[in-house]
Amino acid sequence: MDDITRRLVLLASTVSGMAAAMSASSAATFGNPDEPPQGAINTQDNPRGLTIPGPQNPILSGQFPTSVSPPATDVGALPQFWASFNNAQRRIHNGGWARQVTQESFPISTTIAGVDMRLAAGGIREMHWHQAAEWAFMTYGNCRITVLDPQGRAYVADVKEGDLWYFPAGYPHSLQGLEPDGAQFVLCFDEGHQSEYDTLLLNEWMAHTPPEILSLNFGVPAEAFKNIPLNDTYIFQSQLPGSLAADQAAVASPAGPPPNPFVFSLTRGPITKETKGGKVQIADSHNFKVSTTVAAALVTVKPGGMREMHWHPNADEWQYYIKGTGQMTVFQTGPKAVTTNFNPGDIGYIKRNLGHYIKNVGADDLVFLEVFRTAEYQDFSLSDWITHTPPQMVSAHLNLPADMIARFPQTNAGVMPL
Ligand code: MN
Ligand code: MN
Repeated sequence: MDDITRRLVLLASTVSGMAAAMSASSAATFGNPDEPPQGAINTQDNPRGLTIPGPQNPILSGQFPTSVSPPATDVGALPQFWASFNNAQRRIHNGGWARQVTQESFPISTTIAGVDMRLAAGGIREMHWHQAAEWAFMTYGNCRITVLDPQGRAYVADVKEGDLWYFPAGYPHSLQGLEPDGAQFVLCFDEGHQSEYDTLLLNEWMAHTPPEILSLNFGVPAEAFKNIPLNDTYIFQSQLPGSLAADQAAVASPAGPPPNPFVFSLTRGPITKETKGGKVQIADSHNFKVSTTVAAALVTVKPGGMREMHWHPNADEWQYYIKGTGQMTVFQTGPKAVTTNFNPGDIGYIKRNLGHYIKNVGADDLVFLEVFRTAEYQDFSLSDWITHTPPQMVSAHLNLPADMIARFPQTNAGVMPL
């Protein structure tokens, strides 16, 4: 091969390479950007490649329409960001039950471990403490909580559906279901590995301390302890407590009450953002002062509405779906974009800074919690950012005229107006 021939061959291969690249980029279309194309829309002329003739469980797969048939804009794979309490094993006792999703079964969830718990009226979660802080949202009924702070200030309160509590790590506490039908609540520990079944239990410490030490510690004869339980009681049925006022009077100490309440009414509290499409209610250390390591938003999205495209700069997001049916896509570098579906009792998890939206795809309100291991709730709205960047800059990126960009919502609305 002489020099000229070699140069012609090189030129030809470069041109054909460019042509291939151009043909690839022009093959991608709006709403179907991947090359090679992904999504069921590409099988219209060849539907036999789309069917699922092998084994499947239609009841389960039917819950995940966007996993079975992802939007054509989805691309790549992400670590599993869906989990659920619905198939978490229940630990059932006389008086209530618990089930949990920790980092052991949901590896992405490094900042939060979740627990779903039920206490019958009179049912008690044994007095205990733990190494992680505990944040809770009441999903049903009525519950009495007790806690002591390190200054010796005791606190007793009754909570109901829509209320929160927060116990800093190490603060000893108890929970008891009240009339008429006890309580159910979701707990979030601010540590992904914290297990609800590995807590520091009153009965276990007592049973595993020499009787003479108990005698010395409490100033009564060792014989007084001869009937203590030798095992934990964890959750057990008991009598209903007396009145709240009586319990509060019984625990009053010279140190007085704690300066800030350990409970907060989220659903009956202030509405942080509201549009025709829904609302956002935020509880963090600004308004729920004791909650220094957990911030949360309760989001309500009306049918057809959407929690707008956004991300959170200061923490991973742990989601708990309370009502309705949602569809979420998570956007990661790469690009990667993965969509899945959420129903009541399900859990979602989005790593810090990854883009996401949550669309209500059901006929009823979609209600879910966003929980973060941080003192302060923070997010960025995509629309807020785009409309607060010079229009010429945005036009140069998106091929959109400035007057079209001017119609975008110019605030961080939270939930898009319908
Ligand atoms: Mn606890
Ligand atoms: Mn979010």
